[in-house]
Amino acid sequence: MSRFMRKDLASLQAYTPGEQPQDRRYIKLNTNESPFPPCEAVKEAAAAEAEKLHLYPDPDGGRLKRLLTEQYGVPEEQIFLSNGSDDILNFAFMAFCDAGRPAVFPDISYGFYQVFADLHRIPAVVLPLLPDFTVDVEAFLAQKGMAVIANPNSPTGIALPAEEIEGILAADPERLVLVDEAYVDFGAESCLPLLKKYDNLLVVQTFSKYRSLAGARLGFAFGSPDVIRDLETIRYSTNPYNVNRMTLAAGIAALKNAEYDRENGRKIQKNRAMTEEALKKLGFEMTRSSANFLFVRPPVGDGKDYYLGMKERGVLVRVYGNERIRNYVRVTIGDEEQMAGFLRATEDYLKGAGHERG
Ligand SMILES: *Cc1c(COP(=O)(O)O)cnc(C)c1O
Repeated sequence: MSRFMRKDLASLQAYTPGEQPQDRRYIKLNTNESPFPPCEAVKEAAAAEAEKLHLYPDPDGGRLKRLLTEQYGVPEEQIFLSNGSDDILNFAFMAFCDAGRPAVFPDISYGFYQVFADLHRIPAVVLPLLPDFTVDVEAFLAQKGMAVIANPNSPTGIALPAEEIEGILAADPERLVLVDEAYVDFGAESCLPLLKKYDNLLVVQTFSKYRSLAGARLGFAFGSPDVIRDLETIRYSTNPYNVNRMTLAAGIAALKNAEYDRENGRKIQKNRAMTEEALKKLGFEMTRSSANFLFVRPPVGDGKDYYLGMKERGVLVRVYGNERIRNYVRVTIGDEEQMAGFLRATEDYLKGAGHERG
């Protein structure tokens, strides 16, 4: 830390993204990216924008919002766009929490929630997941402050029925409920239909996972007009041009070619089922995933042993520091070839670990 850094941020523990190694080629199953590159139309649309890179992008993203309106049935004034959905989460913590209104989220969830609370010096109420790793809805009902629920949750992959989230929305209209739906398109139920009934709901989604655009950085959110206006105030006080031209063009083309993403989503679901079955045969335990990853417990060793063994064999998975999940790793679902490589490496690891089947 330099002597210029704010003293009150001295202890800030920044978010640690999954490894993005640039040295050797791994089968990379650690950051929940899509294994499928964007379709041709998306690549062409982004490339065509290069011509106009001397001009600022549309700060309102009107064309993209109109397509979102068509496809999601939400008016433009209820849509917010940002540089990845992390940006929206950041703005929401900034806008809607303070000393009297903590951020409330589960102990095992997206690591960024705690970082945003620390960064904005907001109290965090951390609610342990139940022993089966599902969200403790009763505990949420007993707390005040902005509820932040990743649904499906990461790293567990478990989806909470929208009905349960509706219970939290209905119990206290003065409380904002942020539902982080980064993985919703892989087979969970979105809370978006509840927006007609509840103005205290903020649904956050992203183009990073299901839509193959992690590198473009594009997130979007749906909320009441007032909530969206508040987020716009923060955005215009931070960086009005937060979504660049190439990304806006890529997002528009992706929405126009939604069938490509749907097809890829089906492939991921199929590979997930296949991987799940193969791992169960090898003695792994796992949660029931509705996302593009599996949260698995190897039959021998802890998560770190397995992670290191897999890395040696050229496969990257995600391991966690949190004591409660030290025996688990998260495995992104890739294409068929990647999953075959992952399973071969896993069998080899188990042999090395002296594991006898059956
Ligand atoms: C990946 C992820 C995000 C953020 O994605 P962006 O790339 O910033 O859009 C948000 N929430 C969860 C739970 C995620 O896993």
